[in-house]
Amino acid sequence: MPGCKTTTLGIRIKLRDFILSLIVRWETNPSKKWSNVTFESADIDWDNLGFRFVPTDYMYVMKCSQGETFSKGELQRFGNIELSPCAGVLNYGQGLFEGLKAYRKHEGYILLFRPEENALRLRMGAERLCMPAPTMEQFLEAVKATVLANQRWIPPTGKGSLYVRPLLMGSGAVLGLAPAPEYTFLIYVSPVGNYFKEGLAPVNLVVETEMHRATPGGTGGVKTIGNYAAGNVISTPAVKGTILPGITRKSILDVALSQRFKVEERLVTVEELLDADEVFCTGTAVVVTPVGSITYLDKRVTYGSDGVGRVSQQLYSALTNLQMGLTEDEMGWIVELK
Ligand SMILES: *Cc1c(COP(=O)(O)O)cnc(C)c1O
Repeated sequence: MPGCKTTTLGIRIKLRDFILSLIVRWETNPSKKWSNVTFESADIDWDNLGFRFVPTDYMYVMKCSQGETFSKGELQRFGNIELSPCAGVLNYGQGLFEGLKAYRKHEGYILLFRPEENALRLRMGAERLCMPAPTMEQFLEAVKATVLANQRWIPPTGKGSLYVRPLLMGSGAVLGLAPAPEYTFLIYVSPVGNYFKEGLAPVNLVVETEMHRATPGGTGGVKTIGNYAAGNVISTPAVKGTILPGITRKSILDVALSQRFKVEERLVTVEELLDADEVFCTGTAVVVTPVGSITYLDKRVTYGSDGVGRVSQQLYSALTNLQMGLTEDEMGWIVELK
């Protein structure tokens, strides 16, 4: 490992870390210790969960050097991490994030929604940003282990979910513009309420004509840390280059198709947008967010009477019922943790 000096102190620190990591590993090995244990629920007010960060018990950490592959990830107590001020992620934005949710189903089962899709998207983003990435299997195992280790933080059925946030970053020190020499894959989790208390709530948008979130040839299509928007026909821009391939987006389109909506993936003009009966956005955090109004130049258009359109409501209910295990998973999207 670069920068790893074998002084006595260094060895002593390594030995201490090793012993600590053994203790943590013994404490946290989910398959050995936790398979039949029901955990006491965390002491929080489940009825007033928002989307604020709530620290939990464990995080997953796995490292690798440039040119090598990830191995030996482990659960650690949740806490701050140490980074060189020269870390690639801090200086050149070499970082990606993911987001998915774990739900508690009635009979004590825990459900994940399409976690392989997050694994694949992370791998695509990593390739774009010249980073090594965990394999699909490593990603899935890491997500499962982190969720199981923190299961007392999964809200009771219907009260919300455990938001799972994987990060992949250049953690090694670089000064010249180059890929970092070391990479860290980390997963932390936080319980979240339903983004909006009553499920859905409209947002008001403005069409920005001067600034751009993403440009052709840029990184709008991968989940980089620096990316931060009629009748029975649902139209959405195709995922080409600047549009992030949302897993919720894709799932909503499939659910809509199964409910006999017509789905079009094509260029949508602002004029059409202003002319639509209903407009909504999608994402894991909110699932579906109805748009209450859009302002373009000096024109403001509002949608729906009380703001939440029929189609938004219908698709939101269909997808969240599936995610919570309340309806039959005909798509094969649900992963059960036992
Ligand atoms: C994460 C994200 C989304 C939502 O994607 P999901 O996979 O549905 O959670 C949409 N747009 C951008 C820019 C994002 O970063």
